[in-house]
Amino acid sequence: MLGLMQDWPLLCHRIIDHAATYHPERRVISRSVEGPFHTTNYFELRRRALKVAQRLDRDGIKLGDRVATLAWNTWRHLEAWYGIMGIGAIYHTVNPRLFPEQIAWIVNHAEDRVMMTDLTFLPILEKLAGQLKPIERYVVLTDAAHMPATALKNAVPYEEWIAEADGDFAWKDFDERTAAGMCYTSGTTGNPKGVLYSHRSNVLHSLMAAQVDAMDVSSRDVVLPVVPMFHANCWGLALTSPMVGATLVMPGGKLDGASIFELLDTYRVSFTAAVPTVWLMLLAHLEANNAKLPYLKKVVIGGSACPRAMTKTFQDVYGVEVCHAWGMTEMSPLGTLGSLKPEYADLTGEERLDIQVKQGHAPFGVEMKIVDDSDNELPRDGKTFGRLKVRGFAVTRSYFKEDDDILDPQGFFDTGDVCTIDPHGYMQITDRAKDVIKSGGEWISSIDLENLAVGHPKVAEAAVIGISHPKWDERPLLVIVLKKDQTATKDEILGFMQGKVAKWWMPDDVVFVAEIPHTATGKIQKMALREQFKDYVLPTAAAAE
Ligand code: AMP
Repeated sequence: MLGLMQDWPLLCHRIIDHAATYHPERRVISRSVEGPFHTTNYFELRRRALKVAQRLDRDGIKLGDRVATLAWNTWRHLEAWYGIMGIGAIYHTVNPRLFPEQIAWIVNHAEDRVMMTDLTFLPILEKLAGQLKPIERYVVLTDAAHMPATALKNAVPYEEWIAEADGDFAWKDFDERTAAGMCYTSGTTGNPKGVLYSHRSNVLHSLMAAQVDAMDVSSRDVVLPVVPMFHANCWGLALTSPMVGATLVMPGGKLDGASIFELLDTYRVSFTAAVPTVWLMLLAHLEANNAKLPYLKKVVIGGSACPRAMTKTFQDVYGVEVCHAWGMTEMSPLGTLGSLKPEYADLTGEERLDIQVKQGHAPFGVEMKIVDDSDNELPRDGKTFGRLKVRGFAVTRSYFKEDDDILDPQGFFDTGDVCTIDPHGYMQITDRAKDVIKSGGEWISSIDLENLAVGHPKVAEAAVIGISHPKWDERPLLVIVLKKDQTATKDEILGFMQGKVAKWWMPDDVVFVAEIPHTATGKIQKMALREQFKDYVLPTAAAAE
Protein backbone atom coordinates (compact mmCIF):
# COMPACT_ATOMS: atom_id res chain seq x y z
CA MET A 1 0.00 0.00 0.00
CA LEU A 2 1.34 3.42 -0.88
CA GLY A 3 1.26 6.28 1.57
CA LEU A 4 -1.26 9.00 1.00
CA MET A 5 1.02 11.99 1.23
CA GLN A 6 1.48 14.58 -1.50
CA ASP A 7 3.91 14.13 -4.29
CA TRP A 8 6.02 17.30 -3.99
CA PRO A 9 9.02 16.86 -6.26
CA LEU A 10 12.34 17.93 -4.75
CA LEU A 11 13.21 20.60 -7.33
CA CYS A 12 15.94 23.16 -6.72
CA HIS A 13 13.92 26.18 -7.85
CA ARG A 14 11.57 25.48 -4.94
CA ILE A 15 14.47 26.57 -2.72
CA ILE A 16 14.64 30.06 -4.23
CA ASP A 17 10.81 30.24 -4.24
CA HIS A 18 10.88 29.51 -0.52
CA ALA A 19 13.60 32.08 0.14
CA ALA A 20 11.76 34.75 -1.88
CA THR A 21 8.49 34.05 -0.07
CA TYR A 22 9.62 33.58 3.50
CA HIS A 23 12.91 35.51 3.61
CA PRO A 24 12.31 38.11 0.85
CA GLU A 25 14.29 40.93 2.47
CA ARG A 26 17.28 38.84 3.49
CA ARG A 27 20.31 40.33 1.81
CA VAL A 28 22.73 38.88 -0.71
CA ILE A 29 25.81 41.09 -0.67
CA SER A 30 28.59 40.63 -3.20
CA ARG A 31 31.97 42.07 -3.97
CA SER A 32 31.35 42.64 -7.65
CA VAL A 33 33.94 41.76 -10.25
CA GLU A 34 33.77 45.37 -11.41
CA GLY A 35 34.82 46.51 -7.93
CA PRO A 36 32.05 48.03 -5.75
CA PHE A 37 29.91 46.08 -3.31
CA HIS A 38 26.45 45.16 -4.52
CA THR A 39 23.40 44.37 -2.39
CA THR A 40 20.23 42.56 -3.38
CA ASN A 41 17.80 40.22 -1.60
CA TYR A 42 16.17 36.83 -2.19
CA PHE A 43 12.97 38.35 -3.59
CA GLU A 44 14.91 40.28 -6.20
CA LEU A 45 17.27 37.39 -6.86
CA ARG A 46 14.39 35.08 -7.71
CA ARG A 47 12.81 37.73 -9.93
CA ARG A 48 16.01 37.98 -11.96
CA ALA A 49 16.58 34.22 -11.95
CA LEU A 50 13.19 33.89 -13.64
CA LYS A 51 14.40 36.29 -16.31
CA VAL A 52 17.50 34.15 -16.83
CA ALA A 53 15.25 31.12 -17.24
CA GLN A 54 12.94 32.95 -19.67
CA ARG A 55 15.90 34.24 -21.69
CA LEU A 56 17.55 30.82 -21.92
CA ASP A 57 14.22 29.33 -22.96
CA ARG A 58 13.89 31.93 -25.69
CA ASP A 59 17.42 31.07 -26.87
CA GLY A 60 16.26 27.47 -27.31
CA ILE A 61 18.01 26.01 -24.27
CA LYS A 62 16.08 22.90 -23.33
CA LEU A 63 15.73 20.30 -20.63
CA GLY A 64 19.07 18.56 -20.18
CA ASP A 65 21.18 21.17 -22.02
CA ARG A 66 24.39 22.24 -20.33
CA VAL A 67 25.15 25.89 -19.56
CA ALA A 68 28.72 26.54 -18.45
CA THR A 69 29.59 29.11 -15.81
CA LEU A 70 33.15 30.37 -15.47
CA ALA A 71 32.60 32.74 -12.61
CA TRP A 72 33.34 33.88 -9.09
CA ASN A 73 30.78 33.82 -6.29
CA THR A 74 28.48 36.79 -6.93
CA TRP A 75 24.73 37.44 -7.01
CA ARG A 76 24.75 37.13 -10.79
CA HIS A 77 26.31 33.69 -10.66
CA LEU A 78 23.69 32.62 -8.12
CA GLU A 79 20.84 33.97 -10.25
CA ALA A 80 22.30 32.12 -13.20
CA TRP A 81 22.31 28.80 -11.29
CA TYR A 82 18.65 29.10 -10.33
CA GLY A 83 17.62 30.34 -13.77
CA ILE A 84 19.42 27.49 -15.49
CA MET A 85 17.99 24.84 -13.15
CA GLY A 86 14.50 26.33 -13.37
CA ILE A 87 14.09 25.22 -17.00
CA GLY A 88 15.65 21.83 -16.39
CA ALA A 89 18.97 22.81 -17.94
CA ILE A 90 22.22 22.04 -16.12
CA TYR A 91 24.63 24.52 -14.53
CA HIS A 92 28.12 23.32 -15.36
CA THR A 93 30.66 25.05 -13.15
CA VAL A 94 34.06 25.28 -14.81
CA ASN A 95 37.08 25.83 -12.59
CA PRO A 96 39.10 28.77 -14.00
CA ARG A 97 42.20 27.51 -12.21
CA LEU A 98 42.44 24.54 -14.54
CA PHE A 99 44.90 24.61 -17.42
CA PRO A 100 43.28 26.20 -20.51
CA GLU A 101 43.51 22.87 -22.39
CA GLN A 102 41.60 21.17 -19.57
CA ILE A 103 38.92 23.86 -19.73
CA ALA A 104 38.56 23.27 -23.47
CA TRP A 105 38.40 19.49 -22.97
CA ILE A 106 35.72 19.78 -20.29
CA VAL A 107 33.54 22.24 -22.24
CA ASN A 108 33.67 19.99 -25.30
CA HIS A 109 33.01 16.85 -23.30
CA ALA A 110 30.04 18.46 -21.52
CA GLU A 111 28.82 19.93 -24.85
CA ASP A 112 28.00 23.23 -23.15
CA ARG A 113 25.76 25.39 -25.37
CA VAL A 114 26.10 28.68 -23.51
CA MET A 115 29.05 30.06 -21.57
CA MET A 116 28.35 32.54 -18.79
CA THR A 117 31.57 34.19 -17.76
CA ASP A 118 32.96 36.91 -15.56
CA LEU A 119 35.00 39.71 -17.11
CA THR A 120 38.06 38.19 -15.43
CA PHE A 121 38.05 35.19 -17.74
CA LEU A 122 37.51 36.86 -21.11
CA PRO A 123 41.23 36.68 -22.00
CA ILE A 124 41.31 32.89 -21.37
CA LEU A 125 38.13 32.37 -23.38
CA GLU A 126 39.29 34.57 -26.24
CA LYS A 127 42.43 32.43 -26.53
CA LEU A 128 40.42 29.21 -26.39
CA ALA A 129 37.40 30.31 -28.44
CA GLY A 130 38.38 28.37 -31.55
CA GLN A 131 38.47 25.16 -29.51
CA LEU A 132 35.19 25.67 -27.64
CA LYS A 133 33.13 24.16 -30.45
CA PRO A 134 29.72 23.62 -28.81
CA ILE A 135 29.38 27.15 -27.35
CA GLU A 136 26.73 29.11 -29.25
CA ARG A 137 26.76 32.24 -27.12
CA TYR A 138 28.85 33.96 -24.47
CA VAL A 139 26.96 35.83 -21.74
CA VAL A 140 29.34 38.16 -19.91
CA LEU A 141 28.26 38.64 -16.29
CA THR A 142 28.38 42.44 -16.35
CA ASP A 143 26.42 45.43 -17.61
CA ALA A 144 26.68 47.32 -20.92
CA ALA A 145 28.86 50.04 -19.36
CA HIS A 146 31.56 47.52 -18.40
CA MET A 147 31.32 45.33 -21.49
CA PRO A 148 34.58 45.39 -23.44
CA ALA A 149 34.83 44.82 -27.17
CA THR A 150 35.19 41.10 -27.77
CA ALA A 151 35.15 38.80 -30.76
CA LEU A 152 33.54 35.98 -28.76
CA LYS A 153 30.57 34.46 -30.57
CA ASN A 154 27.26 36.27 -29.88
CA ALA A 155 28.77 37.88 -26.81
CA VAL A 156 26.29 39.92 -24.81
CA PRO A 157 26.39 41.62 -21.40
CA TYR A 158 24.23 39.71 -18.94
CA GLU A 159 22.27 42.77 -17.83
CA GLU A 160 21.17 43.58 -21.39
CA TRP A 161 20.45 39.95 -22.11
CA ILE A 162 18.08 39.53 -19.16
CA ALA A 163 16.55 42.97 -19.70
CA GLU A 164 15.02 41.52 -22.87
CA ALA A 165 12.91 39.20 -20.69
CA ASP A 166 9.90 40.57 -18.79
CA GLY A 167 10.04 37.88 -16.08
CA ASP A 168 6.49 36.73 -16.79
CA PHE A 169 7.54 33.12 -16.77
CA ALA A 170 6.97 29.99 -14.71
CA TRP A 171 9.59 27.41 -13.80
CA LYS A 172 9.30 24.27 -15.89
CA ASP A 173 7.97 21.06 -14.45
CA PHE A 174 9.99 17.88 -14.56
CA ASP A 175 11.01 14.81 -12.63
CA GLU A 176 13.01 15.42 -9.44
CA ARG A 177 15.70 13.03 -10.72
CA THR A 178 16.44 15.43 -13.61
CA ALA A 179 20.06 16.60 -13.74
CA ALA A 180 20.54 20.03 -12.17
CA GLY A 181 24.29 20.63 -11.98
CA MET A 182 27.58 19.33 -13.19
CA CYS A 183 31.13 19.52 -11.90
CA TYR A 184 34.21 17.76 -13.23
CA THR A 185 36.60 16.21 -10.76
CA SER A 186 40.15 17.45 -11.05
CA GLY A 187 41.60 13.95 -11.17
CA THR A 188 45.37 13.80 -11.10
CA THR A 189 45.50 11.05 -13.72
CA GLY A 190 43.46 10.54 -16.86
CA ASN A 191 40.78 12.87 -18.11
CA PRO A 192 38.50 14.75 -15.71
CA LYS A 193 35.23 13.03 -14.92
CA GLY A 194 31.82 14.71 -14.95
CA VAL A 195 29.70 14.37 -11.82
CA LEU A 196 26.05 15.05 -12.49
CA TYR A 197 23.91 16.21 -9.55
CA SER A 198 20.15 15.84 -9.72
CA HIS A 199 17.48 18.18 -8.34
CA ARG A 200 16.60 15.52 -5.80
CA SER A 201 20.20 14.95 -4.67
CA ASN A 202 20.82 18.71 -4.41
CA VAL A 203 17.69 19.33 -2.33
CA LEU A 204 18.32 16.39 -0.01
CA HIS A 205 21.98 17.37 0.31
CA SER A 206 20.93 20.91 1.30
CA LEU A 207 18.57 19.61 3.97
CA MET A 208 21.38 17.44 5.25
CA ALA A 209 23.94 20.27 5.15
CA ALA A 210 21.74 22.63 7.17
CA GLN A 211 21.45 20.26 10.15
CA VAL A 212 22.90 21.40 13.46
CA ASP A 213 25.41 18.54 13.49
CA ALA A 214 26.39 19.35 9.91
CA MET A 215 26.93 22.97 8.77
CA ASP A 216 24.46 24.34 11.33
CA VAL A 217 23.28 27.41 9.39
CA SER A 218 20.01 29.25 9.94
CA SER A 219 18.20 32.47 9.08
CA ARG A 220 20.14 34.13 11.91
CA ASP A 221 23.45 33.50 10.15
CA VAL A 222 25.46 35.64 7.80
CA VAL A 223 27.14 33.10 5.53
CA LEU A 224 30.31 33.80 3.57
CA PRO A 225 31.02 30.97 1.11
CA VAL A 226 34.67 31.58 0.36
CA VAL A 227 34.65 28.16 -1.27
CA PRO A 228 33.98 28.97 -4.92
CA MET A 229 30.78 27.84 -6.62
CA PHE A 230 33.07 26.07 -9.09
CA HIS A 231 34.61 23.94 -6.36
CA ALA A 232 32.59 20.82 -5.55
CA ASN A 233 29.10 22.32 -5.82
CA CYS A 234 30.05 25.19 -3.47
CA TRP A 235 29.92 22.65 -0.63
CA GLY A 236 26.16 22.99 -0.88
CA LEU A 237 26.09 26.58 0.40
CA ALA A 238 24.54 28.15 -2.72
CA LEU A 239 21.47 26.01 -2.06
CA THR A 240 21.51 25.61 1.72
CA SER A 241 21.78 29.35 2.47
CA PRO A 242 18.58 30.36 0.62
CA MET A 243 16.88 27.22 1.89
CA VAL A 244 17.32 28.39 5.49
CA GLY A 245 17.05 32.10 4.66
CA ALA A 246 20.58 33.02 5.72
CA THR A 247 22.12 36.32 4.66
CA LEU A 248 24.75 35.65 1.99
CA VAL A 249 28.03 37.47 1.50
CA MET A 250 29.66 36.58 -1.81
CA PRO A 251 33.40 37.29 -2.05
CA GLY A 252 33.75 37.79 -5.82
CA GLY A 253 37.28 37.27 -7.09
CA LYS A 254 39.26 38.55 -4.11
CA LEU A 255 40.18 35.71 -1.77
CA ASP A 256 43.35 37.10 -0.15
CA GLY A 257 43.54 37.54 3.63
CA ALA A 258 42.88 41.30 3.68
CA SER A 259 39.86 41.06 1.36
CA ILE A 260 38.29 38.17 3.27
CA PHE A 261 38.88 39.99 6.55
CA GLU A 262 37.16 43.08 5.16
CA LEU A 263 34.04 41.02 4.41
CA LEU A 264 34.07 39.19 7.75
CA ASP A 265 34.31 42.44 9.63
CA THR A 266 32.14 44.80 7.57
CA TYR A 267 29.21 42.42 7.16
CA ARG A 268 29.51 40.72 10.56
CA VAL A 269 29.79 37.27 9.01
CA SER A 270 28.91 34.48 11.48
CA PHE A 271 29.67 31.43 9.33
CA THR A 272 32.23 30.77 6.63
CA ALA A 273 33.79 27.83 4.80
CA ALA A 274 36.86 27.16 2.65
CA VAL A 275 40.02 25.08 2.16
CA PRO A 276 42.99 25.44 4.56
CA THR A 277 45.09 27.53 2.15
CA VAL A 278 42.51 30.34 2.30
CA TRP A 279 42.66 30.31 6.10
CA LEU A 280 46.46 30.37 6.07
CA MET A 281 46.22 33.70 4.23
CA LEU A 282 43.58 35.05 6.60
CA LEU A 283 45.47 34.02 9.74
CA ALA A 284 48.67 35.61 8.41
CA HIS A 285 46.73 38.83 7.77
CA LEU A 286 45.18 38.82 11.26
CA GLU A 287 48.54 38.24 12.90
CA ALA A 288 50.33 40.93 10.90
CA ASN A 289 47.61 43.51 11.60
CA ASN A 290 46.73 42.50 15.12
CA ALA A 291 43.12 42.14 13.96
CA LYS A 292 40.31 40.22 15.68
CA LEU A 293 37.21 38.32 14.57
CA PRO A 294 34.47 39.44 16.95
CA TYR A 295 31.50 38.33 14.83
CA LEU A 296 32.60 35.05 13.30
CA LYS A 297 31.26 32.04 15.19
CA LYS A 298 32.12 29.09 13.00
CA VAL A 299 34.45 28.14 10.17
CA VAL A 300 34.10 24.92 8.20
CA ILE A 301 37.46 23.72 6.90
CA GLY A 302 37.84 20.89 4.42
CA GLY A 303 39.03 19.95 0.95
CA SER A 304 42.40 19.00 2.48
CA ALA A 305 43.23 18.07 6.04
CA CYS A 306 42.87 20.95 8.46
CA PRO A 307 46.09 21.14 10.49
CA ARG A 308 45.72 20.92 14.25
CA ALA A 309 47.61 24.22 14.65
CA MET A 310 45.02 25.99 12.48
CA THR A 311 42.11 24.71 14.59
CA LYS A 312 43.94 25.73 17.75
CA THR A 313 44.67 29.24 16.50
CA PHE A 314 41.11 29.88 15.33
CA GLN A 315 39.68 28.63 18.60
CA ASP A 316 42.19 29.82 21.20
CA VAL A 317 43.31 33.12 19.68
CA TYR A 318 40.17 34.25 17.84
CA GLY A 319 37.36 32.41 19.64
CA VAL A 320 36.02 30.89 16.41
CA GLU A 321 34.78 27.28 16.45
CA VAL A 322 36.34 25.08 13.78
CA CYS A 323 34.34 22.32 12.11
CA HIS A 324 36.61 20.00 10.15
CA ALA A 325 34.79 18.45 7.20
CA TRP A 326 35.55 15.92 4.53
CA GLY A 327 33.85 15.42 1.22
CA MET A 328 34.26 14.92 -2.49
CA THR A 329 32.85 16.35 -5.70
CA GLU A 330 31.25 12.91 -6.12
CA MET A 331 29.38 13.36 -2.82
CA SER A 332 27.76 16.75 -3.60
CA PRO A 333 30.19 17.11 -1.64
CA LEU A 334 29.59 16.61 2.10
CA GLY A 335 30.69 13.30 3.62
CA THR A 336 31.55 13.93 7.26
CA LEU A 337 31.60 16.91 9.62
CA GLY A 338 33.31 17.30 12.96
CA SER A 339 30.60 18.48 15.35
CA LEU A 340 31.12 17.12 18.84
CA LYS A 341 28.83 14.29 19.95
CA PRO A 342 28.00 14.06 23.67
CA GLU A 343 30.75 11.47 24.12
CA TYR A 344 33.30 14.16 23.24
CA ALA A 345 31.49 17.40 24.04
CA ASP A 346 33.10 17.91 27.46
CA LEU A 347 36.67 17.48 26.27
CA THR A 348 38.97 20.48 26.49
CA GLY A 349 42.47 21.45 25.35
CA GLU A 350 44.59 18.88 23.52
CA GLU A 351 42.04 16.09 24.04
CA ARG A 352 39.40 18.13 22.24
CA LEU A 353 41.86 18.86 19.42
CA ASP A 354 42.57 15.11 19.14
CA ILE A 355 38.92 14.71 18.06
CA GLN A 356 38.72 17.89 15.98
CA VAL A 357 41.70 16.87 13.89
CA LYS A 358 39.58 13.94 12.69
CA GLN A 359 37.39 14.62 9.65
CA GLY A 360 34.16 14.01 11.57
CA HIS A 361 31.10 11.79 11.43
CA ALA A 362 28.53 11.13 8.74
CA PRO A 363 25.16 12.89 8.73
CA PHE A 364 22.00 10.98 7.77
CA GLY A 365 22.24 10.19 4.08
CA VAL A 366 25.89 9.11 4.07
CA GLU A 367 26.80 5.49 4.85
CA MET A 368 30.47 4.63 5.25
CA LYS A 369 32.56 1.50 5.56
CA ILE A 370 36.26 0.71 5.47
CA VAL A 371 37.57 -2.34 3.64
CA ASP A 372 40.86 -4.16 3.07
CA ASP A 373 42.31 -5.04 -0.34
CA SER A 374 40.01 -8.08 -0.60
CA ASP A 375 36.98 -5.92 0.18
CA ASN A 376 36.47 -7.35 3.67
CA GLU A 377 34.93 -4.85 6.02
CA LEU A 378 37.34 -3.68 8.75
CA PRO A 379 36.58 -2.86 12.38
CA ARG A 380 35.61 0.64 13.51
CA ASP A 381 38.18 0.78 16.27
CA GLY A 382 39.86 4.09 15.41
CA LYS A 383 43.12 2.22 14.66
CA THR A 384 42.58 -0.05 11.66
CA PHE A 385 43.17 1.71 8.31
CA GLY A 386 41.17 0.78 5.25
CA ARG A 387 39.82 2.11 1.98
CA LEU A 388 36.79 4.27 2.57
CA LYS A 389 33.61 3.42 0.67
CA VAL A 390 30.40 5.43 0.75
CA ARG A 391 26.75 5.17 -0.25
CA GLY A 392 23.95 7.74 -0.07
CA PHE A 393 21.29 9.90 -1.72
CA ALA A 394 23.80 12.50 -2.88
CA VAL A 395 26.65 10.17 -3.92
CA THR A 396 27.42 9.63 -7.60
CA ARG A 397 26.68 6.27 -9.19
CA SER A 398 28.24 6.89 -12.59
CA TYR A 399 30.20 9.59 -14.42
CA PHE A 400 28.82 11.60 -17.34
CA LYS A 401 29.12 9.70 -20.65
CA GLU A 402 30.88 6.77 -18.97
CA ASP A 403 28.92 3.57 -18.89
CA ASP A 404 31.14 1.81 -16.37
CA ASP A 405 29.45 0.77 -13.20
CA ILE A 406 31.62 2.42 -10.58
CA LEU A 407 29.85 0.96 -7.55
CA ASP A 408 30.60 -2.29 -5.75
CA PRO A 409 27.94 -5.03 -5.57
CA GLN A 410 26.45 -3.45 -2.43
CA GLY A 411 26.17 -0.08 -4.17
CA PHE A 412 29.17 1.56 -2.45
CA PHE A 413 31.47 4.08 -4.15
CA ASP A 414 35.21 3.74 -3.52
CA THR A 415 36.47 7.17 -2.43
CA GLY A 416 40.16 6.41 -2.98
CA ASP A 417 40.84 7.66 0.55
CA VAL A 418 42.37 5.58 3.32
CA CYS A 419 41.07 6.18 6.83
CA THR A 420 40.12 4.88 10.25
CA ILE A 421 36.66 5.07 11.84
CA ASP A 422 36.41 5.18 15.64
CA PRO A 423 33.71 3.52 17.76
CA HIS A 424 31.72 6.78 17.84
CA GLY A 425 31.78 6.97 14.03
CA TYR A 426 34.46 9.65 13.66
CA MET A 427 36.43 9.13 10.49
CA GLN A 428 40.06 10.16 10.16
CA ILE A 429 41.75 10.32 6.79
CA THR A 430 45.21 8.80 6.70
CA ASP A 431 45.86 9.64 3.07
CA ARG A 432 44.73 9.33 -0.49
CA ALA A 433 45.34 5.64 -1.21
CA LYS A 434 48.07 6.57 -3.67
CA ASP A 435 49.81 9.00 -1.30
CA VAL A 436 50.16 6.75 1.74
CA ILE A 437 53.81 5.92 2.47
CA LYS A 438 54.58 2.22 2.58
CA SER A 439 57.50 1.58 4.89
CA GLY A 440 58.54 -1.98 5.65
CA GLY A 441 55.06 -3.30 4.91
CA GLU A 442 53.42 -0.78 7.24
CA TRP A 443 51.67 2.48 6.34
CA ILE A 444 52.73 5.96 7.36
CA SER A 445 50.19 8.76 7.10
CA SER A 446 51.61 11.73 5.21
CA ILE A 447 48.73 13.87 6.53
CA ASP A 448 49.64 13.21 10.17
CA LEU A 449 53.24 14.21 9.56
CA GLU A 450 52.21 17.34 7.64
CA ASN A 451 49.86 18.32 10.43
CA LEU A 452 52.58 17.97 12.97
CA ALA A 453 55.17 19.90 10.95
CA VAL A 454 52.87 22.91 10.40
CA GLY A 455 52.54 23.13 14.18
CA HIS A 456 56.13 24.48 14.20
CA PRO A 457 55.86 28.26 14.51
CA LYS A 458 58.21 28.92 11.58
CA VAL A 459 56.47 26.56 9.13
CA ALA A 460 53.87 27.92 6.69
CA GLU A 461 53.15 24.73 4.75
CA ALA A 462 54.40 21.13 4.73
CA ALA A 463 54.07 18.15 2.42
CA VAL A 464 55.31 14.62 2.96
CA ILE A 465 55.99 12.18 0.14
CA GLY A 466 57.39 8.66 0.01
CA ILE A 467 60.89 8.34 -1.45
CA SER A 468 62.10 4.92 -2.51
CA HIS A 469 64.41 3.24 -0.08
CA PRO A 470 66.49 0.07 -0.62
CA LYS A 471 65.61 -1.44 2.72
CA TRP A 472 62.16 -0.10 3.64
CA ASP A 473 60.61 0.26 0.18
CA GLU A 474 59.63 3.89 0.93
CA ARG A 475 60.54 6.42 3.59
CA PRO A 476 59.04 9.86 4.25
CA LEU A 477 60.63 13.06 2.95
CA LEU A 478 59.33 16.26 4.53
CA VAL A 479 59.09 19.25 2.19
CA ILE A 480 58.68 22.61 3.91
CA VAL A 481 57.79 26.18 3.02
CA LEU A 482 58.84 28.52 5.82
CA LYS A 483 56.85 31.57 6.87
CA LYS A 484 57.99 34.89 5.40
CA ASP A 485 61.50 35.98 6.51
CA GLN A 486 62.05 32.85 8.64
CA THR A 487 65.02 30.50 8.61
CA ALA A 488 65.21 27.05 10.16
CA THR A 489 67.40 23.97 10.10
CA LYS A 490 66.45 20.40 9.44
CA ASP A 491 67.36 19.43 13.02
CA GLU A 492 65.19 22.19 14.42
CA ILE A 493 62.15 20.82 12.58
CA LEU A 494 62.88 17.18 13.36
CA GLY A 495 63.58 18.03 16.99
CA PHE A 496 60.14 19.64 17.21
CA MET A 497 58.48 16.50 15.80
CA GLN A 498 60.48 14.04 17.92
CA GLY A 499 58.40 12.19 20.47
CA LYS A 500 55.12 13.34 18.94
CA VAL A 501 54.90 10.44 16.45
CA ALA A 502 56.15 6.85 16.44
CA LYS A 503 59.90 6.79 15.89
CA TRP A 504 59.64 4.86 12.63
CA TRP A 505 57.26 7.52 11.23
CA MET A 506 59.86 10.28 11.58
CA PRO A 507 60.87 11.77 8.18
CA ASP A 508 64.25 10.58 6.95
CA ASP A 509 65.05 14.01 5.60
CA VAL A 510 63.76 17.59 5.36
CA VAL A 511 64.02 19.94 2.40
CA PHE A 512 63.08 23.62 2.30
CA VAL A 513 61.40 24.99 -0.84
CA ALA A 514 59.97 28.37 -1.84
CA GLU A 515 56.64 26.91 -2.94
CA ILE A 516 54.65 23.67 -2.88
CA PRO A 517 52.58 22.99 -6.02
CA HIS A 518 48.77 23.01 -5.65
CA THR A 519 45.91 21.65 -7.74
CA ALA A 520 43.10 23.80 -9.11
CA THR A 521 41.12 23.15 -5.94
CA GLY A 522 43.92 24.05 -3.55
CA LYS A 523 45.20 20.59 -2.68
CA ILE A 524 48.88 19.76 -2.48
CA GLN A 525 49.90 18.22 -5.79
CA LYS A 526 51.66 15.14 -4.52
CA MET A 527 52.20 13.76 -8.03
CA ALA A 528 54.10 16.88 -9.07
CA LEU A 529 56.14 16.78 -5.86
CA ARG A 530 56.99 13.11 -6.38
CA GLU A 531 58.11 13.98 -9.90
CA GLN A 532 60.20 16.90 -8.59
CA PHE A 533 61.95 14.64 -6.07
CA LYS A 534 62.06 11.46 -8.13
CA ASP A 535 65.86 11.32 -8.16
CA TYR A 536 66.21 12.38 -4.55
CA VAL A 537 68.45 10.10 -2.51
CA LEU A 538 67.67 10.00 1.19
CA PRO A 539 70.71 10.06 3.45
CA THR A 540 69.40 6.86 5.06
CA ALA A 541 69.17 5.20 1.64
CA ALA A 542 72.79 5.97 0.85
CA ALA A 543 73.77 4.54 4.25
CA ALA A 544 71.75 1.34 3.72
CA GLU A 545 73.39 0.54 0.38
P1 AMP B 1 37.42 17.14 -4.41
O1 AMP B 1 36.49 16.26 -5.14
O2 AMP B 1 38.26 17.98 -5.30
O3 AMP B 1 36.73 17.94 -3.35
O4 AMP B 1 38.46 16.19 -3.65
C1 AMP B 1 38.04 15.20 -2.75
C2 AMP B 1 39.22 14.67 -2.00
O5 AMP B 1 39.81 15.69 -1.21
C3 AMP B 1 38.87 13.59 -1.00
O6 AMP B 1 38.72 12.34 -1.61
C4 AMP B 1 40.06 13.66 -0.05
O7 AMP B 1 41.18 12.96 -0.55
C5 AMP B 1 40.39 15.14 -0.04
N1 AMP B 1 39.80 15.77 1.14
C6 AMP B 1 38.67 16.47 1.22
N2 AMP B 1 38.47 16.93 2.47
C7 AMP B 1 39.51 16.50 3.21
C8 AMP B 1 39.88 16.62 4.58
N3 AMP B 1 39.17 17.31 5.45
N4 AMP B 1 41.03 16.01 4.98
C9 AMP B 1 41.78 15.31 4.11
N5 AMP B 1 41.49 15.17 2.82
C10 AMP B 1 40.36 15.75 2.37
